[in-house]
Amino acid sequence: MRKITVVGAGQSGMMVAVGLVRKGYDVTVVSDRTPEEIRNGRVTSSQGMQATPIAYEREMGLRLWEDVYQPWEGIEFNVLSPEDGSKVSSFAQRVGPTNGSPDWLIDSIDQRVKMPAWIYRFEELGGKMLYETADLPALDRYAAESDLVLVASGKGEIGKLLERDDEKSVYDKPQRALGLAYVRGMEPIKTRDHGVINRGLTWNAVPGVGEYFVCNALTTSGECDIMIFEAIPGGPADVLDMRDGPEQYLKNCVDVLKKFYPHEAERCQNIELTDDLGILSGRFPPTIRKPLMRLPGGGLAMGIADAVCLNDPITGQGSCNAAKFAKVVYDAVLNRVHEPFDGDWMQQVFDTYWEQAEAVVQWTNHLLDGPGPAASKLLMAANDNQDIADFLLRGMDDANRLMPYFFDEAAADDLIGRLTRRVA
Ligand SMILES: Cc1cc2nc3c(=O)[nH]c(=O)nc-3n(C[C@H](O)[C@H](O)[C@H](O)COP(=O)(O)OP(=O)(O)OC[C@H]3O[C@@H](n4cnc5c(N)ncnc54)[C@H](O)[C@@H]3O)c2cc1C
Repeated sequence: MRKITVVGAGQSGMMVAVGLVRKGYDVTVVSDRTPEEIRNGRVTSSQGMQATPIAYEREMGLRLWEDVYQPWEGIEFNVLSPEDGSKVSSFAQRVGPTNGSPDWLIDSIDQRVKMPAWIYRFEELGGKMLYETADLPALDRYAAESDLVLVASGKGEIGKLLERDDEKSVYDKPQRALGLAYVRGMEPIKTRDHGVINRGLTWNAVPGVGEYFVCNALTTSGECDIMIFEAIPGGPADVLDMRDGPEQYLKNCVDVLKKFYPHEAERCQNIELTDDLGILSGRFPPTIRKPLMRLPGGGLAMGIADAVCLNDPITGQGSCNAAKFAKVVYDAVLNRVHEPFDGDWMQQVFDTYWEQAEAVVQWTNHLLDGPGPAASKLLMAANDNQDIADFLLRGMDDANRLMPYFFDEAAADDLIGRLTRRVA
């Protein structure tokens, strides 16, 4: 039986681990946190999952909350004026099985809920957990004992041993100051064209200030809304610091909304934090790394998901990408029946993933830099045309659909012309 060691009990690591243990592989997951520590710890993400990654979770037998938590009902996207916060462009769509789009599933399960449950499921299936913080000597040890070592450590330090890919990495500094607040008591989303959305996502951008999005989720105490702040570093909304303490942090969140996102502030008159660890602030440079790690003892390890392809969360793609990477690795392991998991195989697996991920990275970076003429035209055209709105919103599940329209003005003009004629 082939032995696989996975470092990191997160979105990608647990999906590969559960997937492979179900197929009879001997899998060990190394985690620096126990399920109890994860469950009782700080929030890590807003972890909105789109339809394709949800399908992959289902394939691995990991959709464990469908009886207790319904997917989102809709998504809305707004561009706001930096002068007065009024909506310059606003478009939305209803999604999910109750809204006639059973294939358009999106939801968010707090990683503090998801990962412990996945760890328990993995152990029930015969998987082995090892609780320690992996370092370089440990990787050597795992490589000597395993056919394949995967480093799925997210933003963890161990992943930084993977060499930065200078060609694919665009930034050397954080592009946004990030903030998260998990809250209860928020009013629903009121869209212009699709009525009230009780459970969903609304995404807002204010040029020169940053972005704010808010989505429904299942957390440890039930349903909540997650406020996600993306502030341009050093800019007027870069004021969130969890060292201020939970109460002051939430007050600062609401102050940012009152100043720059007034329609969102109105939804927050009665909010409270779900728990004191329901806040997070931080910043990191989006970075692409090379997948292969040659270990001092002569073995190899392979980086996956955020460890090698770390995007800013502005497009809400990290967990989705982690699931997509997990699926690529899972398929590639199953297809490699007898041959060794060597360096060529690892590079090929990464290249297969990159075919999907490159568009996500380009789209994400494009929004970080401020949308260019093509993207701006599309965002404005979507205000008056549901087909263009659908086209952009569906791109959240597969950014390849946005190519080349999001970047190429002639292609964007052509698309807008075609979709506008169809409506007229
Ligand atoms: C503010 C914010 C909002 C986000 N919102 C979204 C969103 O809406 N949608 C979306 O798709 N993505 C979102 N993301 C990104 C998403 O959460 C991550 O991209 C995703 O979780 C990455 O999965 P992963 O498997 O690579 O790593 P992770 O899920 O981060 O898991 C890594 C695991 O490895 C463990 N670990 C680290 N080092 C070691 C070590 N040395 N030894 C053992 N264990 C170790 C960690 O404790 C952790 O459990 C957001 C991120 C942030 C910061």
